[in-house]
Amino acid sequence: MEPARIEVVGRGIEGEVEPGRRLGDVVKELGLRTVEYIPVVNGRVVTWEYMLRPGDRARLLPVVSGGAGCEICGEEAVYSYLGISLCRGHYIEYFEGKVLDTIREYSLIQPGEHVAVAVSGGKDSLSLLYLLNKYREDLGIEVTALLIDEGIKGYRDLTIEDFMRINRDLGVRYRVITYEEVFGHGLDEIIDIAREKGLPRYPCSYCGVFRRYLLNIGARIAGADVLATGHNLDDIVQTYVLNIVTNSLERILHLLPRTSGADHPLLVPRVKPFYRVLEMETTLYSVLMGLYPRFIECVYAPEALRNDVRNYVNELEERRPGTKYKIINSLEDLIKRYGPAVARIGSCRICGEPTSGDICRTCRYLDSLGLLENLLRWRSRIGLVEG
Ligand SMILES: [Zn+2]
Ligand SMILES: [Zn+2]
Repeated sequence: MEPARIEVVGRGIEGEVEPGRRLGDVVKELGLRTVEYIPVVNGRVVTWEYMLRPGDRARLLPVVSGGAGCEICGEEAVYSYLGISLCRGHYIEYFEGKVLDTIREYSLIQPGEHVAVAVSGGKDSLSLLYLLNKYREDLGIEVTALLIDEGIKGYRDLTIEDFMRINRDLGVRYRVITYEEVFGHGLDEIIDIAREKGLPRYPCSYCGVFRRYLLNIGARIAGADVLATGHNLDDIVQTYVLNIVTNSLERILHLLPRTSGADHPLLVPRVKPFYRVLEMETTLYSVLMGLYPRFIECVYAPEALRNDVRNYVNELEERRPGTKYKIINSLEDLIKRYGPAVARIGSCRICGEPTSGDICRTCRYLDSLGLLENLLRWRSRIGLVEG
């Protein structure tokens, strides 16, 4: 069996590990403290619960600067980046302040608005939910948590449990919509159907389309004015670079922290309050706040190209710290120069939901899968009228 590789950045530790072992156990055996590192496997941040697989490339990024104290109070630092070290308390202040600044600077959420938070179960969206709820009085907003259960065996069962417990703890209203109730099947079965019919699509492309569709409807049902997602600076940088590689300028000009709300009466504007924070920063925040979910990776591998882009950008950042900020600044300059993409959005001829085409992608996919009737039945059952 092919071994997994592990590298401890900044410590000169590099070696091979037998697959099937918990990453946290391996790290402890190396005499390292897990709180001092952020675990990254194949370019994605994971938790210490992660089970190493053959061929994995695990890298541990240090979050603690070598003995240096907090810039502000001199206490032990938990964060060190671009020459700045911060202790736990000052890091939390810095992180929350940066997000609140982003919300104000880009006018993401207005006082009096009701925000639906798209919770995927991962650390980013849970941190976002926690933070928005913590500051809901300061911001003058209402918060609802929204979860789409795709029906992926062994992946979602546990996070739903976590989702409900966290919402109860926080005292946040929540709503769950399942693929099963809407389409009559979970994603696993949908993939089987697609395979039987010889449809050449990746699970993630179905999932991306269906999730977006249901999040928009879910936000509307919840009575929300905006839909907030946990996309961080790394996600946006990756999408930007990916769209350069595939020459999709139109898509690049859509990469705004807030999408326009005037495009269609049924389209809930989307906001990204983590637009200016690094994935490493949201991870650290979630660890410090005890929000790290029992993380189980989706069994469906992400798109290969995105994975390559992620690894490439992370390597650049490591060799030249600050690269990710430079890339997002270039994105902002580009959008300023060319103006944000103006989407001509109409209504799907079948379901009435917003779409740039004649028939929305959800209806098209469902039609090819023979599941369109299920969607239309669900829509009429919950009182969504066409057109
Ligand atoms: Zn401090
Ligand atoms: Zn449709």
